[in-house]
Amino acid sequence: MANYHPTDELLMEFTAGQKHDPLGILVACHLETCRECQNRARVFEQLGGEILEESSPTPVSDRLLKSILNHLDDAPKATPEVQGDSRIPRPLRRFVPSFYDRLPWKGMSKNIKEFTLPFSNKEYTAKFYKIAAGKELPVHTHKGNEFTLVLSGNFSDDAGKYNEGDFILADTSTHHQPRAGMEEDCICFAVMDAPLKFTGFFGRMLNPFMR
Ligand SMILES: [Zn+2]
Repeated sequence: MANYHPTDELLMEFTAGQKHDPLGILVACHLETCRECQNRARVFEQLGGEILEESSPTPVSDRLLKSILNHLDDAPKATPEVQGDSRIPRPLRRFVPSFYDRLPWKGMSKNIKEFTLPFSNKEYTAKFYKIAAGKELPVHTHKGNEFTLVLSGNFSDDAGKYNEGDFILADTSTHHQPRAGMEEDCICFAVMDAPLKFTGFFGRMLNPFMR
């Protein structure tokens, strides 16, 4: 059972149907196995309904109200049955062609491999990371937010130990050195809202302004 979960705000946005992006997919993957968050999501859904039933104006943030209204436009759809490996979380199956050990991993170093997911967009980069058993990442900090879901194995840092299903947020205040458990490689699904990096001719022209 997971010990680390998405925040209320993120889960609320997700429940309201506003998160069809890489971060939404990450939350969906956590929800698939987390009973606790499934229950929280149900409460938020009810809350959304009750807010709309209220005849007297209730102080609701514009953003929340808008997302609830948008959600109502979504006709109930039958979830298409997705083929694929049942060991991979359902929301990822149509993007991840084979099981983790057969993915075309790219080496960042001998001990750290990555696989960039095809649904990264302008706002978010989505990747799998694989840290070899017992190995650690160099100490690092974050430029933006990095949301991580442990898919397989476990890792630890100064703040705790994270197991399969845990949902972790690292931000600019986080300085950490994740180390994979000794027993097996640790595979994580991470979504980062890091700024765009420009390369090439236009990039060299633009980069001085991108601070
Ligand atoms: Zn949870």
